[in-house]
Amino acid sequence: RDRFLASVAAIDDEAPERHRVPDRYAAVPRPTLGRFASTPDTDPAVAENRARARAVLSRVPGSTLGVDAAAGAWLRSSDEVDAVVATARSGAARWAALPSDERARVLHHVGDVLEEHRDVLLEVMAAEAGKTLEQGDPEVSEAVDFAHYYAELARGLDGVDGARFEPVGLTLVTPPWNFPVAIPAGSTLAALATGSSVVLKPAGQSQRCGAVLADLLWQAGVPRDVLHLVQVDEGTLGRTLVAHPGVDQVVLTGAYDTAALFRSFRPDLRLLAETSGKNAIVVTPSADVDLAVKDVVSSAFGHAGQKCSAASLVVLVGSVARSRRFRDQLLDAASSLVVGEAHDPRTQLGPLVEPASGKLLAGLTELDPGEAWALAPRRLDDAGRVWTPGVRVGVRPGSRSHRTEYFGPVLSVMTAADLDEALEIVDAVDYGLTAGLHSRDADEIATWLERVEAGNLYVNRGITGAIVRRQPFGGWKRSAVGPGAKAGGPGYLDVLGSWRPARARR
Ligand code: GLU
Repeated sequence: RDRFLASVAAIDDEAPERHRVPDRYAAVPRPTLGRFASTPDTDPAVAENRARARAVLSRVPGSTLGVDAAAGAWLRSSDEVDAVVATARSGAARWAALPSDERARVLHHVGDVLEEHRDVLLEVMAAEAGKTLEQGDPEVSEAVDFAHYYAELARGLDGVDGARFEPVGLTLVTPPWNFPVAIPAGSTLAALATGSSVVLKPAGQSQRCGAVLADLLWQAGVPRDVLHLVQVDEGTLGRTLVAHPGVDQVVLTGAYDTAALFRSFRPDLRLLAETSGKNAIVVTPSADVDLAVKDVVSSAFGHAGQKCSAASLVVLVGSVARSRRFRDQLLDAASSLVVGEAHDPRTQLGPLVEPASGKLLAGLTELDPGEAWALAPRRLDDAGRVWTPGVRVGVRPGSRSHRTEYFGPVLSVMTAADLDEALEIVDAVDYGLTAGLHSRDADEIATWLERVEAGNLYVNRGITGAIVRRQPFGGWKRSAVGPGAKAGGPGYLDVLGSWRPARARR
């Protein structure tokens, strides 16, 4: 009991820079969750689904979903920030006082409402964030899964012998634009499940997605004073909001630098952040080459590489590096991708959310010493949003392409004499989010699992698309800031509040 209480008290401590994601609650007596069935994605073999998909895509150009609501969410002065925070704090008191079963009921209903509005969510994601249906459909499923899963976890916050769970009060949720539905849904619903109220500030690039999502949550019964949708100018009022004394915690998904910036606004900020990645797939001579090529291509170029989980390095080991077989197949497969706009049903590699600039533009256009394009990216539109995939070879350890997260459709190929050298390359980066191995050798798999420094490890599978409950998602090193709990996993709600010793019974 004492050790348990000491460890739950330690949850407020910062995780060390290199950590194994803790499962501090494994020993807590909890109702065991029953089977958790994931929501199915849309089956394109069904004719009716294909007709619906065509209807969604035909609405995308000129879609105005979410435009008005997003415009209405803007806060223009610090008085307006104060007012939203004050209302959200009073909403929190009422929400926290509900039995957790009641909150779970609302969350389950949210899941059903999101499912009923799958087409609306697909439309706004394609229109605003350039998501193809192929990428957007599993994203809606993930959002629905978060609702049902966190509803079930919420029930576990009652009835722990000797300890009681306290919500924080008000949680500010600042999600990214790359999963503009699933990530804001997951973070918001998790905080709501714990009894916290939420101020949701969607990324500027995906405000409309955030507005449509918030509206569906309200429709499903989340009270208006418990969930607030806001938008602020990040350069000015962003700081006011993040550092506001009425904000009890921030859940951020975004760049590591953004987490560091938030910390600089307020050093004592209670922050749970899932941050950047520079993720590698290692391919050894025992690998199934066809499978490896397919998984590297989908992990590197799905959603144009704009995923924290994306593969931006592939490390070829020994004879795979020396022979042409893997490389030729990879280049054939990458150049076969149909590149275009999200509303075109043929598109396999969609547009960037905004024109390439800065680090990404450099990644798409510049080579460092020793490097060459095996497949040079080409810009297909005037604005610089639509790019064919790039594959660069000759990438040297320690170079820019080895260590920089480009967040776009560009893959770096590196080579290693053996698995040891490959692991040195993979572990040399600052981040540790996802990692992949393609190998059919049990010893290689065991060695890699033991030594690779990342939160989500995938063997003989792509490294994106973690599934709620089955593959809790979260990183090590600079891929996470805060207590390091994994989204969609059993300990996630625990870190969004605090466990306290229960008052002694009389
Ligand atoms: N959870 C997503 C995946 O497994 C990645 C989320 C992100 O890019 O932030 O692909």
